[in-house]
Amino acid sequence: MLEKKDRIVTGDRPTGRLHIGHYFGSLQNRVKLQNEYETFILVADVQALTDNFNNPEKVQKNVKEIVMDNLAVGVDPNKATIYLQSMIPEVAELTVFYSNLVTVSRLQRNPTVKTEIAQKKELFGESVTYGFLGYPVSQAADITALNGTIVPVGEDQLPLIEQCREIVRKFNSIYGQTLLEPKAILSNAKRIKGLDGNEKMGKSLGNAIYLSDTDEEITKKVMSAVTDPGRIKKDDPGNPNICMVSYYHKLFTKSNEELEEIMKECRAGTRGCVACKKQLIKNIINELEPIREKRRYYEERPELVKEILMEGTKHARKIAKENMLRIKEAMKLNY
Ligand code: SF4
Repeated sequence: MLEKKDRIVTGDRPTGRLHIGHYFGSLQNRVKLQNEYETFILVADVQALTDNFNNPEKVQKNVKEIVMDNLAVGVDPNKATIYLQSMIPEVAELTVFYSNLVTVSRLQRNPTVKTEIAQKKELFGESVTYGFLGYPVSQAADITALNGTIVPVGEDQLPLIEQCREIVRKFNSIYGQTLLEPKAILSNAKRIKGLDGNEKMGKSLGNAIYLSDTDEEITKKVMSAVTDPGRIKKDDPGNPNICMVSYYHKLFTKSNEELEEIMKECRAGTRGCVACKKQLIKNIINELEPIREKRRYYEERPELVKEILMEGTKHARKIAKENMLRIKEAMKLNY
């Protein structure tokens, strides 16, 4: 029986650079948690292939982007381990073992998987691949390969952790008490809406501000953000509650006084939308500049980025290998 010491396993899919939705939704929390728990950050390239199998270049290209984004926001490689999924073969092996412990209909009923399959109709058509349907199984393998006990997730991801817990319980009931049952901790950050007002900010939706965006890119994006459509003239009273610029001001404008003034002037019709957007651009740039500066440091040092990832992977692999011996022993596969 393992000694229970909390260990976080979390990660990102390398399908694009990280944006401010990730920043408020998970990265800020991750940076905080690395001081409290042993933290492992997975760059999930194999999982990214489940819905990008036809575009491996995209996945490969984004591995280093994800590592740099994590480092730029303050993930400290001396505190947290950043590692690459495809270099931990034990995860693939475990996925095969666990696939006996979950039924196809249970996976089809998983609400997270169901939603995602519906969103990917264009890729999968009427019939989803075995790999995509089974990604919660490989996620269970990611977590348990490292004896992860804590997984920070958004509410929409909770069914994936429940699925992992079920697999662990089933494994332990058949092969003896071997695996630790992880628990989810809900990140209290909310999901950030896109610049176009869409509930989700996403790479594929073209409505995101990336942590690595330049001043010009941020300016262009904010200038095209959706405002109160009822305001035709500059002195028309506005409704900041239906304006994406005001929504972003609440995230980026740190001074309460400044924020109150924005809302008041908007409602009174004494504030122009262009000036309001320019003020937001300034505040976003102020918040992102230290992140971008740190990112530039790593962009100029690709060898260092690679070294951090390889060292982290070596560390994670060692744990997975040791763990695998116990798992195989429990399964009578210890030849
Ligand atoms: Fe939005 Fe600002 Fe225009 Fe009001 S003044 S509608 S908050 S952009």
